[in-house]
Amino acid sequence: MKSLNCAVYDLIGRFAADWPVAGSLQVGAIKAGAWFCRRLCVSSGIIKTAPPLWRLCHLTRDFTTMSADLKIVFATNDNALADRLISRMESWYPHVSVCKLDDPAAAEAEVAACWYPPEDLLQRCPNLKLLQAISAGVDHIGDALLASGVPICRVVDEGQKHGMLEYVLWGMLHYQRDFDLALANQANKVWKLHPQRRPGRMRVGVMGLGQLGGYIAEGLVSFGYSVSGWSRTDRHFDQVSCYAGEAEMTEFLANCDAIINLLPLTPATDGILNASLFERLPQGAVVMNCGRGEHLNEADLIAALASGHLRGAILDVFPKEPLAQDNPLWTTPGVVITPHMASSASGKAILGQLVDNGRHVLEGLPLMNLVDSEQGY
Ligand code: NAP
Repeated sequence: MKSLNCAVYDLIGRFAADWPVAGSLQVGAIKAGAWFCRRLCVSSGIIKTAPPLWRLCHLTRDFTTMSADLKIVFATNDNALADRLISRMESWYPHVSVCKLDDPAAAEAEVAACWYPPEDLLQRCPNLKLLQAISAGVDHIGDALLASGVPICRVVDEGQKHGMLEYVLWGMLHYQRDFDLALANQANKVWKLHPQRRPGRMRVGVMGLGQLGGYIAEGLVSFGYSVSGWSRTDRHFDQVSCYAGEAEMTEFLANCDAIINLLPLTPATDGILNASLFERLPQGAVVMNCGRGEHLNEADLIAALASGHLRGAILDVFPKEPLAQDNPLWTTPGVVITPHMASSASGKAILGQLVDNGRHVLEGLPLMNLVDSEQGY
């Protein structure tokens, strides 16, 4: 009953989150409103019964006296981010207790919302039963916590998948329709028309066929691109030529005019976008890195562009963000830089999955988007 009440309050809290009053007041006001509406419907003969007055009092008392059903600590090195998320939590989930790591209440926390958590998190919060990354990737969790045995979950958000598809489509159109050449020509006041290439003539390879990569591969097929994909284990998607593992990587690369990296960052994928990979791509291929900055060997990319083997690169992620002012990538011809904007999960998805998974772990229910700690993703 308590968790049913919590779910109802969450819904109301989320619905009323934009109201400029405190969360508990919003909930109280909406409940009272609903109660009066039902009374009105009874007086107008629309419905026969309405809950009595004591029911309203009971619900309100129930709400105001309900103790926190879940204790969450925000474990991050980004203080401003923690403040933002905590303020939303307090508004959307008024009965969930939330704190920062430096709060004494952190020692009691059952769930940690993680974004670059400290290595000694489990010593500081010995009661933790779940580490919930507030992101799709979990590379920021760190090896020690990954190996700790405490379950780790991550965020999967349909809106984020679609946002990534938009970003990738923009990148593919940039090259397929020769916008890169048109922009370079504009800089020299050159008027030059290039023959129009149909999407089916552009062979796009997606590295990583998980939540994001799989969605992108299917989305690109629907736009008429010729799509292949590469993953660790065998995958199957309609109209996508799927390759798996080291053994099939060379064949995969040889058939790509463009590659889109959507791999997670693990020891096996660190530095994977390097000279050896670029050499196996056809002459004039392009690279999009939407995974993590550490996937890319920057010097190898600059060399492959300078030699003319690669036509261009779109880079959204970097090992150190923001990208340093003196990084040569800023001014390397053929490189487009975007500020880790490819796609983000919504606050609703991040906090909703945090609270839902937190309750699941306390109630012994299956966790959503559980990470395989051995594989690191
Ligand atoms: P996911 O669901 O875990 O999928 C990962 C995919 O990579 C799977 O297909 C997996 O193969 C494959 N893979 C893993 N290790 C591999 C290896 N050694 N060799 C070949 N394939 C391997 O991850 P996701 O949710 O799609 O997210 C992918 C990454 O995107 C995240 O980790 C994050 O770094 C990045 N990201 C970036 C942004 C941005 O704005 N730029 C936003 C969100 C996420 P199997 O299918 O065989 O397991």
